Amino acid sequence: MMFRIGQGYDVHRLVEGRELWLCGVKVEHDLGLDGHSDADVAIHALCDALLGALALGDIGKHFPDSDPRYKGIDSKILLGHVCRLIKEKGYRLGNADITIMAQRPKLAPYIGEMRDTLAKVMEVDAGQVSVKATTTERLGFEGRCEGISSSAVVLLESVS
Ligand code: MG
Repeated sequence: MMFRIGQGYDVHRLVEGRELWLCGVKVEHDLGLDGHSDADVAIHALCDALLGALALGDIGKHFPDSDPRYKGIDSKILLGHVCRLIKEKGYRLGNADITIMAQRPKLAPYIGEMRDTLAKVMEVDAGQVSVKATTTERLGFEGRCEGISSSAVVLLESVS
């Protein structure tokens, strides 16, 4: 069995007048993340971890924000595309572990739906997908509610 590990990290700015999407789930909040796509920072970190595991570059290379095709795009579509690439390369997900750093809002009520949503897009069991959330004790840009960051780690295993 061949294993590959990957990690990803992303940050988006919190602004007024945008919806907040995290792990493919719409979260009720008075601010949303700014970006060319739906700015789902957690899916972007996950995509970068998956691409990184197979040294396939990063999300900016595959889906450039200069490309109008990706304007406002649902990041679940990007994740689906990345998963097809992984499959083409002869790998499947062992497990993924995502952390979201956000001072507000409380994300605990959404964690189950987030795991189920990601598992469905990735065509894996929800038991293979962990989503965690933490505040930063009011420190840094996340703590000042200026933005939300996310990191992800994945383990891929070869299918053959
Ligand atoms: Mg991003």
